[in-house]
Amino acid sequence: MGKPTGFMEIQRKTVGYRPPLERIGDYQEIFSAPVDDKLRAQGARCMDCGVPFCQSDSGCPIDNLIPEWNDLVYQGRWREALDRLHRTNNFPEFTGRTCPAPCEGACVLGIIEPAVTIKNIENAIIDRGFAEGWIVPRPPSKRTGKRVAIVGSGPSGLSAADQLNKAGHQVTVYERADRIGGLLMYGIPNMKLDKGVVKRRLDLMAAEGVRFVTGADVGRTIEPKQLVSEHDALLLATGATKPRDLPIPGRELQGIHFAMQFLTANTKSLLDSGLSNGEYISAENRDVIVIGGGDTGTDCIGTSIRHGCRSMVNFELLPQPPQGRAADNPWPQWPRIYRVDYGHEEIAAKFGADPRTYSILSKEFLGDANGRVSGIRTVEVEWKTVDGKPKLEERPGSEKEWKADLVLLAMGFLGPEHYLAESLGVQLDPRSNYQAEHGRFSTSLPGVFAAGDCRRGQSLVVWAINEGRGAARAVDEYLMGESHLPAPGVTQGTALG
Ligand SMILES: Cc1cc2nc3c(=O)[nH]c(=O)nc-3n(C[C@H](O)[C@H](O)[C@H](O)COP(=O)(O)OP(=O)(O)OC[C@H]3O[C@@H](n4cnc5c(N)ncnc54)[C@H](O)[C@@H]3O)c2cc1C
Ligand code: SF4
Repeated sequence: MGKPTGFMEIQRKTVGYRPPLERIGDYQEIFSAPVDDKLRAQGARCMDCGVPFCQSDSGCPIDNLIPEWNDLVYQGRWREALDRLHRTNNFPEFTGRTCPAPCEGACVLGIIEPAVTIKNIENAIIDRGFAEGWIVPRPPSKRTGKRVAIVGSGPSGLSAADQLNKAGHQVTVYERADRIGGLLMYGIPNMKLDKGVVKRRLDLMAAEGVRFVTGADVGRTIEPKQLVSEHDALLLATGATKPRDLPIPGRELQGIHFAMQFLTANTKSLLDSGLSNGEYISAENRDVIVIGGGDTGTDCIGTSIRHGCRSMVNFELLPQPPQGRAADNPWPQWPRIYRVDYGHEEIAAKFGADPRTYSILSKEFLGDANGRVSGIRTVEVEWKTVDGKPKLEERPGSEKEWKADLVLLAMGFLGPEHYLAESLGVQLDPRSNYQAEHGRFSTSLPGVFAAGDCRRGQSLVVWAINEGRGAARAVDEYLMGESHLPAPGVTQGTALG
């Protein structure tokens, strides 16, 4: 512990975002540059608790050694901090930018004071590691001769590939999209995670021996059984890609899109041509309504305002969360409280008000004479508890019509698409994910494993890394009879993810 009294003397100060009205003019990352001295001071606030809740159970899903690297950063020993960080996290540059930081919700200091800025410190360690040239390709010294195929190149497939490659296996990652990265590439937009940051890690992995094949749609353009016969093990990491629809009257109207159609096309066009090819759904001069919150809803808001939308409204079915922890949501659980994310802040700065409307249910999409959406009819709802379960009731007389000529559906995901499971013969669980137990990750077929959102349902980048690392260990054990790869947190997770 660097400074025993640090938590009493130093206030929490996070690395800020660039001013909202400046950042909506570009697709650069929203974060402002961190200042080393300030981060070191933040590291000094860590109390090095006897039981560091931040790094276990309700805290970090990959058991990051948080108090250790907080102390090393406070002492200015950045390179050692980097080594500690890489022991548990293959991709700190992804979590340091995108993680909602359950670690901070579980920080012991958080009981009486604002928590340590753990996520900012994590990001600064890895960015410094790359800037100093400390991170170079380290291919394995020995190869085992075993071949592993991974389907899906999101954070779960990539972390498994990294671990299995380190263990000496020949790993090939098959991805149906034209770029590797899963939702890190085509999901989370540039302003939250620059694609150069993703590519930098992919180049490193390729230099260490991982093979990547794009345009490979396993179950359609590639026969899955062929992959099974050509490899010693197969890992499915195909994500939760089936979006939840809103089948109300008027759904067939033009101008209503799933969030991922909007976000994927935008990033692809941006990377291919700087948006000059026009191959994306434009929100320019549109009255946009985003239905659904969470990261996906926020990213639709942030992308729409960068297109130059005319207005923005965001519908949330649930009531507005409380400003502080509710009695049934104590520390060290993830605090389910009201938060202002980057997109909300940008809309408030440009249009003068937060875009979110709570406890609202969409009843019908309204259309114009050309078959394009022109609005949404809604009703307010109240949430009651009946027999211990939340029940939704419509409030009579609260019907309202809203103007909209672009509607984006961001209401979550219903697990993986099933064509791959069907052609392979893999069993599904009752939630329609691939059936495989956390910790073992083996499906109903010998030698076939599953990890990430396709196994646990839609979740977080950090949980995808947890699953990828865990699945890599299970695959390694299957191939070699034992494994020296580490086993990440074995808990099933908290309310968050
Ligand atoms: C818009 C959006 C924003 C998000 N923002 C955040 C955030 O800020 N922070 C956070 O922690 N989490 C965020 N998440 C969640 C996070 O991105 C996911 O939990 C995580 O990416 C899941 O990783 P994964 O590897 O399991 O799957 P994915 O990242 O979904 O990757 C699966 C990959 O498999 C490929 N694939 C599917 N089927 C096949 C097939 N048959 N053949 C070949 N390839 C196939 C897909 O094309 C995809 O590339 C966000 C999610 C979305 C949708
Ligand atoms: S990965 Fe997420 S939970 Fe873990 S230390 Fe980083 S920010 Fe915290």
